[in-house]
Amino acid sequence: MESHNMDSHDVTSRDMNAYGVIDPEGDIFLIVEERQGRVYTRLSEIFSDHQVRSTLPSPSTAEESETIDLDESSSLSRESSPDPSVSDLVSSTLLDGDSEQDAPDKKTKIRVSSKHLAFASPRFQDMLESSDGEFGRIERDLLPAGFDNLSAVLVLLNVIHGCARKVPRSLDPETLCMVAMLAEHYECLEAVEVYFENWVRNIEDRVPRVYTDDLSIWLYIAWTFKHQMLFKHVTRIAVRESTGPVPTLDLPIPKKLIEHIETLRQYRVTEILKSLFERLEYLLEHKNCCQDCDMMLVGSLVCQMKAQGLLPQPEDPFLGFSVECLLAKVGKMKETRCKDLIHPANGCPVLGCLMMPKTRVVLNRVDDELTGLELTWCVL
Ligand SMILES: [Zn+2]
Ligand SMILES: [Zn+2]
Repeated sequence: MESHNMDSHDVTSRDMNAYGVIDPEGDIFLIVEERQGRVYTRLSEIFSDHQVRSTLPSPSTAEESETIDLDESSSLSRESSPDPSVSDLVSSTLLDGDSEQDAPDKKTKIRVSSKHLAFASPRFQDMLESSDGEFGRIERDLLPAGFDNLSAVLVLLNVIHGCARKVPRSLDPETLCMVAMLAEHYECLEAVEVYFENWVRNIEDRVPRVYTDDLSIWLYIAWTFKHQMLFKHVTRIAVRESTGPVPTLDLPIPKKLIEHIETLRQYRVTEILKSLFERLEYLLEHKNCCQDCDMMLVGSLVCQMKAQGLLPQPEDPFLGFSVECLLAKVGKMKETRCKDLIHPANGCPVLGCLMMPKTRVVLNRVDDELTGLELTWCVL
């Protein structure tokens, strides 16, 4: 595998024969195309006819041939394929059977080994078997919505081809997420798992500590690779700090998981609010201490609930309310000063009147119970 060469030879991506090489002895091309914002892959022969043969390097000279720079930062969103000038379109047609109307917006060809693809991925295996040597017959493989990262394709291909030295030690979270998406799509998580621990360890400092927009990326990564610690950490933040359904960002996160997190959020918010409003009702309807103390308790509770945006009562599904923020808002409500101001004059019991003792117990319990999810619940 050491002989595999993917280095650039100072050739721009405008070269019409340019392609990336994962395996210089590779017998097929994996073609990655962008069409109307979606990314497709397909397989193609290296030599389909004599005309093409004359424009392509032979396998034995492949390492000296011109290859495009498939560096870590390359992305489909960048210019990573030949411009669709007339000569290029002809070239495309000859090489890959695209008619002019059918030409993709962007295209990258990568030389790979069919054996390695089939060994690592049942999906590639199916594609290869169903092609029966004629790749033109197989439909393009549509990658999941939201996929737009060529670097991730290269990472996966290097993993699949056993090119361990070319697999980056560190990936940014977005690329890691796309690798997860691809590995799931091609059913080759097992091959990638070996690298996963290291990838996560090397970007530990980028794992969110609070709820952020990219938490979903981490949720998807943890879920896909079935990483219990990461999953628990991320779901803890999601359940406690989300203020509505966690956005999927177009990632194939199971709907059931998003729903479960949202159900937990609503359940806990309901639990806290219910306790608070039951207490208010109780104080309004029952005698607690003397009249002065009781009025002070009700007045203080109502004023503080209003100040915290909890009056009028928030409505189901409590959008905008996170459990964490509710714990803080209710937790910081102050007890009344009736013990100092009223009790000596009215001869009330020495112990003060508590405004919401049960609610404080609920707050502590919710806080303790709201840890992250176990992967085991999710039998989806
Ligand atoms: Zn009293
Ligand atoms: Zn009192």
